[in-house]
Amino acid sequence: MKIIKATIYTIRSEGLKPIILRLETDEGISGLGEAATAYGSGGTGAAGMLKDLCARFVIGADPTGINQLVAEMYDQSFWLKNPGGIAGAALSAIEQALWDIRARSLEVPVYDLFGGRMRDSLSYYANGWYFGAKSVAELLKQAEAAVQDGHTALKMYPLAKVQPNGTLRHTVNRNADERHAVREAIDFVAQVRRTVGPDVDLMLDLAGGLSVGDTIRFARGLEDLDIAFIEEINDPGDLGALQQIGAKTVIPIACGERQYLRYGFRDLLERRVVSIIQPDLGNTGGIAETHKIAAMADAYGVKVQPHVCGSTVAATIAAHFSASLPNFYVQEHFPYWARVPGWVEVATEPFENCLKDGALPIPEGPGYGVTLDEPTVKDHIWAEVS
Ligand SMILES: [Mg+2]
Repeated sequence: MKIIKATIYTIRSEGLKPIILRLETDEGISGLGEAATAYGSGGTGAAGMLKDLCARFVIGADPTGINQLVAEMYDQSFWLKNPGGIAGAALSAIEQALWDIRARSLEVPVYDLFGGRMRDSLSYYANGWYFGAKSVAELLKQAEAAVQDGHTALKMYPLAKVQPNGTLRHTVNRNADERHAVREAIDFVAQVRRTVGPDVDLMLDLAGGLSVGDTIRFARGLEDLDIAFIEEINDPGDLGALQQIGAKTVIPIACGERQYLRYGFRDLLERRVVSIIQPDLGNTGGIAETHKIAAMADAYGVKVQPHVCGSTVAATIAAHFSASLPNFYVQEHFPYWARVPGWVEVATEPFENCLKDGALPIPEGPGYGVTLDEPTVKDHIWAEVS
């Protein structure tokens, strides 16, 4: 079998702008992958890296030699060593598509290639329930509605400010003296806790955030609010700060969406401060690499929550990963993308519609079992390589 064509889609959607890869073979089997750059800036960079890697390494290659092809790209492309989010995302999308092709050729789901499934459904927390809230009052109303919708765990961004246009703006100038920021953020979380009641799990994402000292004050102020975990409590490049803050709080610490390959996670785990790692299969180096990362985490007594913020393609790939993972903790899930005006659904069966009995079902194959909605995605082709 030989790979004969790569199609790179940059989906011009509102809410997210997913970068999706399809690899086609001479035997008529194709595979999908997604670069984890659907948010923030850099999607075009990942698409460009995908194009370059496909042209140089992937077209003409045997897709069944996954380890061989990944090693070749890693060792010869120069920028995949210590890759960062953009190059790491391109590598990951290619690796994911290769597993899809392999599983489809064997007519099995991808999780079967990683030892089979260990569970029949995935527990999850809801993210994105705050979309469109234009004030704190509206946000509290939406928290209540999310609980009424049946979600039993919610994640929120306590330092982000609700904007009049219904988006969230993350903190800037985090090391400046913002005397009231800590108090306001604690009050905000307390209001959400009162609104959702004691039985809902609350996760907090600081996405970087405040200075080390203010973050410690913030974490201390939260300790009576029964917080499941606090995520990215400091700049992800500063493991020393993570250790400093972690030593001063009893709340479990999560991070990892901006760590890459086994090397990045080794350095994180060796600090022995995180309780939960959050690798994104769309930038860590791919599924096999993330299984290795998860095994390292297991040796440190750390649980795994895949970071998921992408299209149905990325969400489904993450579900296959979690299905077969021994130290799986909880899945990140966005149930409300379709509410965003201008949202483009890329698959014939949207993953966000699959919730059943308060859990995410394990997707069936073959491969990931995702079918792109051709009439929709054909308008979003960014490059074809053959
Ligand atoms: Mg995060």
